[in-house]
Amino acid sequence: MSCCNALFDLAQLGVKQLVPYVPGKPIEELERELGLSHIVKLASNESPLGVSPKVLAAISQVLPDLTRYPDGSGFKLKTALAEKYAVNVNQLTLGNGSNEILELVARTFLSPELNAVFSQHAFAVYPIVTQAAGASARVVPARDYGHDLPAMLAVVDDKTRIVFIANPNNPTGTLLTPATLKAFLQALPSTVACVLDEAYSEFVAAEHKADTISWLADFPNLIITRTFSKAYGLAGLRVGYSLSSPEIADLLNRVRQPFNNNSLALVAAETALHDADYLQSAITTNNQGMAQLTAAFAGLGLAWIPSAGNFVTFDLKCPAMPVYEALLQRGVIVRPIGVYEMPNHLRVSIGTEQENAVFIDALKAVLDV
Ligand SMILES: *Cc1c(COP(=O)(O)O)cnc(C)c1O
Repeated sequence: MSCCNALFDLAQLGVKQLVPYVPGKPIEELERELGLSHIVKLASNESPLGVSPKVLAAISQVLPDLTRYPDGSGFKLKTALAEKYAVNVNQLTLGNGSNEILELVARTFLSPELNAVFSQHAFAVYPIVTQAAGASARVVPARDYGHDLPAMLAVVDDKTRIVFIANPNNPTGTLLTPATLKAFLQALPSTVACVLDEAYSEFVAAEHKADTISWLADFPNLIITRTFSKAYGLAGLRVGYSLSSPEIADLLNRVRQPFNNNSLALVAAETALHDADYLQSAITTNNQGMAQLTAAFAGLGLAWIPSAGNFVTFDLKCPAMPVYEALLQRGVIVRPIGVYEMPNHLRVSIGTEQENAVFIDALKAVLDV
């Protein structure tokens, strides 16, 4: 690609070495390829419930105002979040998805001589934002597919500015205990930002969930990220946020583009936040679907990684791509995770009962059992 464009070679090294994020295969693409119509997509941890009717109604109300710029401060959404989580508005930063928050943190704290620490098999966006900032990544081997926090702590040095922790982690679904997490924060130098990525927090059972927001008072270097993309069912609108100390929020808001959340996204997220029925139904559907899928794996003699998220990763004990491809032929899209150094595993998102059943039947047919 560099042969005829001299500028290509002059790109920042980290950017040149980037491996682009590979999203789940879009439904329309598979429809085009196969001429199939009833595609089941369980590849991107999206909500299987569809958009909440309350959100649809709220969005249509603001359509006539689309000539105007959105509220660049996200005042109403931030006020609603601050109320819900009992934090100050100045502790919140809104992002175009929580992915943008990850990028804002990297751009705020990283530069070429510095490094960020994260785990093997951790969310693919951490290496991307780290490298894009020209910084280096310290990838720490996983332990039982989860984050090995003591080993991560051991590689932190005076050039480390960020540790990324996904809890639960995607794609493995592993969850750290509150005690382990807190001990890590206590040991981490206060000059290192700890990004606690809680994209799946809503799915974690209360008895296993750490009250991390209450920790913000003790750890001014803690940055908690959350999203409306998963349990709230708004992946297409791109709204995420972080909770942090006011000082860090101030920095992130300086880097942030002034209108990073569009008008529809702001109103949709605010409405979704108050839609307790939708959230509860998302959680119930997820718990039932998790039981349905893991029972099927057990029946098939397949091992899976116990997951606290809205997806589950299972082990084929042989290269997974042929199984992925064969599932595609049957109109079922799951997620291959070879890029996460897990070539023998596939990740499946929890769908509706019926979608899960279609997946299970297709898997049985593909595995010929
Ligand atoms: C899905 C996901 C996100 C959220 O992405 P958005 O940009 O908010 O849609 C963040 N972190 C992890 C680990 C995820 O799996």
